[in-house]
Amino acid sequence: MAGCPVCSSTSTQIRWRGLRDRLFRTTAERFDVARCEACGAHFLAPIPPLDQLARYYPDDYWVGPSDRQPQRAAQGGLLERYRMFVLRDHVRFARRVLEAQRHRGLQPRVLDVGCGDGSFLEALGEHDMTGMDLSAPAVQAVQARGIRALRGTLTDCPLAGERFSLITAYHFLEHVHPIEPILAAMRSLLAADGDIIVQVPNCDSWQAMLLGRFWAGYDVPRHLIDYSARTLCSTLERCGFTVVATNHHCLRDNPTTLANSIVPRLYPPARMSRPGGNRGFAGALANLTYLGVTLASVPFCIAESLFGRGASVMVHARPR
Ligand SMILES: [Zn+2]
Repeated sequence: MAGCPVCSSTSTQIRWRGLRDRLFRTTAERFDVARCEACGAHFLAPIPPLDQLARYYPDDYWVGPSDRQPQRAAQGGLLERYRMFVLRDHVRFARRVLEAQRHRGLQPRVLDVGCGDGSFLEALGEHDMTGMDLSAPAVQAVQARGIRALRGTLTDCPLAGERFSLITAYHFLEHVHPIEPILAAMRSLLAADGDIIVQVPNCDSWQAMLLGRFWAGYDVPRHLIDYSARTLCSTLERCGFTVVATNHHCLRDNPTTLANSIVPRLYPPARMSRPGGNRGFAGALANLTYLGVTLASVPFCIAESLFGRGASVMVHARPR
C-alpha cells in the first residue's frame, strides 16, 4: 500500500473495505478507506485520479435550493433564515479575525474558496467579498446574492495578482490532494499580515469513533483525505502557517453529520439532487424527520465539542 498522503509514513493500513456512496449515491463503485498509524489521517485507498472525481459530485452539491427562486417563494425565506441562523458559528469565528485585522489597520478583503451557494459570505456581510467555486451553478447562486463570484480553483486561479486579508475554506481541504500546493496558493493570495480560516470534518471526533465506517463525515468518495484536528494543525504548521485558534463547535455541520450517519437516506440535499426525490407529502415527512434527528443530535454534539472532539474543526492560522 502507498504511504500516507498527509505525512508520508508507510505505517498505513486499510481500515474499511468496500464502502459505498451512502449519501448522494452517485456511483455503484465500492471504495476502501485506509488509516495512517503515524498521524491518524484517513484516506481513500487508492485516491482516484483527480480528473475522474467530477462524476461523484451531483450538479447542485453544496448549492441546494434557494427559496429566492420564484417557484419556492411560498417558503417565505424560511430556508434562508435557517441557513443564516446555523451559520452563526462560522460568522462569529470570522468576525473575530476581521475585528483584529481592523485593529491592525488592515482593510478587510475576504475570499471564500469552495464558496458553495454564498450563504456564508452573505451572512458575514463584509463590504469587499469574493467567492470562488468550481461549480457553475454555485457561482451563479453567489452572484444572485449580489456578491462577486468566480469559477476556478486555487491552483488554476482567476485571481492571480489580487490580495485578500482573509481567505476562508470551509469543508474544502478534505476534497483536494495534494494539500501543499493548495496552501501555497492560499499564501500567495494573502495580503501581508493576512489570515486564513479552514474547516474540515474531524475524524478524531466522538461520533467518528463511535460510528466507524458509518460516520457520514467520511463522505466517501468525495472526501479524499479526512484529517483529525491534530493532523490538520500539524499540516498547517508544516506548510508554513502558525495556528492561532481552533473551534470544535459548529451548529450547522456537527448535528447534521450525526444525522447523516443515522439516516443518510433522509439528507435533504441528496434527496433534492435526485429527480422527484423531495416531492409531496413523503418529501415533507422526510424533511421533518430529518430535522427531528438533527435537533436530537445537538446535545451530543455540544458535549463532544466541549471535550475538543467535535465532528468538525475550524482553524484560524497565519503565515509565519
Ligand atoms: Zn500520516
